[in-house]
Amino acid sequence: MISEQEARQKILGKIRPLLARKIPLVNALDCFAAEDYFARLPLPNFDNSAMDGYAVIARDCSPRRIRPSADRLGVRLRVVGEQPAGVDRKLRVNRGEAVRIFTGAPMPKGADAVIMQEDVTRKGDQIVPNVDVGPGEFVRKRGCDLSEGQKIVTAGERIRATTLALLASQGYSEVSVGAEVRAAIISTGDELAKAGEKLEPGQIYESNSVLLQSMLKRCGAIRSSIQHCGDNANSLRKTLRAAGKNDVLIVSGGVSVGEHDLVQSALRELGAKIDIWRVAIKPGKPFLFGGIGDCFVFGLPGNPVSAFMTFLQFVRPAILRMMGATDLDLPKVPAKLAVDLCNKGDRPHYIRGKLENGNFVPVGRQESHALFGLSQSNALLRVAIGESLKAGAIVEIEMFD
Ligand code: AMP
Ligand code: MG
Repeated sequence: MISEQEARQKILGKIRPLLARKIPLVNALDCFAAEDYFARLPLPNFDNSAMDGYAVIARDCSPRRIRPSADRLGVRLRVVGEQPAGVDRKLRVNRGEAVRIFTGAPMPKGADAVIMQEDVTRKGDQIVPNVDVGPGEFVRKRGCDLSEGQKIVTAGERIRATTLALLASQGYSEVSVGAEVRAAIISTGDELAKAGEKLEPGQIYESNSVLLQSMLKRCGAIRSSIQHCGDNANSLRKTLRAAGKNDVLIVSGGVSVGEHDLVQSALRELGAKIDIWRVAIKPGKPFLFGGIGDCFVFGLPGNPVSAFMTFLQFVRPAILRMMGATDLDLPKVPAKLAVDLCNKGDRPHYIRGKLENGNFVPVGRQESHALFGLSQSNALLRVAIGESLKAGAIVEIEMFD
């Protein structure tokens, strides 16, 4: 049995990003950038007004800033033109003049500030400023946000809504991103009934496939299918063979060593290579990793919490790498442990709990079938073999939701 770190290394050692593709920005949310992107334009691209108002020469409006004893009474500026957004009328402001201007409109030559329309009294073609104005006020200077040539996206970065907005602001209509991963999910077990079916005595409702499909979705660009298969060698072989055409195959249940756990033997009969079998992790020991041809196979334990844990530890980073991501880890944050915890077992124990107001509180039964506690949790705490932690200790937890 290998450690979870060794297992992860071994898996990631085999996985390379799939071929990148260029897609329209609107389809690229939650994909991963396949190359670096740089600003083609500064932001803003020209000096422009941050307000609806008047472009002025600041010292015309604020005699008291120049000479504290001065009186502003009597300051009047002649409105010599109008500058809307969307065209550059190449206007100029001279001493004693103002130009009517609107948000986003290019600054006229000579003007160095904008006075808000609420802060002036307009009389015919003249305005009287009612406030002092400093140079640069309400002017968005060219390049103050972003310089031309500056890096705006790094290869491997997840593309968020704001990344897309930034690319769009630069005139990009497409972006090069990592491939969409095709994944097949196969849930196995004679005891499993589908939601909506009548539950016979001894049966349970199948819940892993929706769990796994949703977690795949969270990884980003995934095309996934779900199939159910009984504990029957023939149908398992058939289902596995067909699913082996995908990039990734995730089997839930049946990977253990009971008489009804037929996944391993079916895989071997199909000529699959099994690289990992069993990992020292709690929950999640009966985990399998291998491959059929080019398809990576992950065999997850059927117990829902174990399936969840092994997905997060091993499947998620693998999928992310295939998609071209560079950050494969769950976000880690410090938290104050709310209770004493110790691990007397022979595997690292991942405790499920809730991060609330900076405190980590374990939730529910810490057993591999206990789905309710898991559903109320949002974070994991790894407790190493022999480790003993006291309430109040500052621990590092991993956020999964
Ligand atoms: P197995 O790994 O097949 O031995 O299953 C271990 C436990 O997980 C058993 O109690 C199964 O009934 C349960 N189980 C297996 N697959 C699923 C599933 N898809 N949904 C919910 N529970 C499952
Ligand atoms: Mg089973």
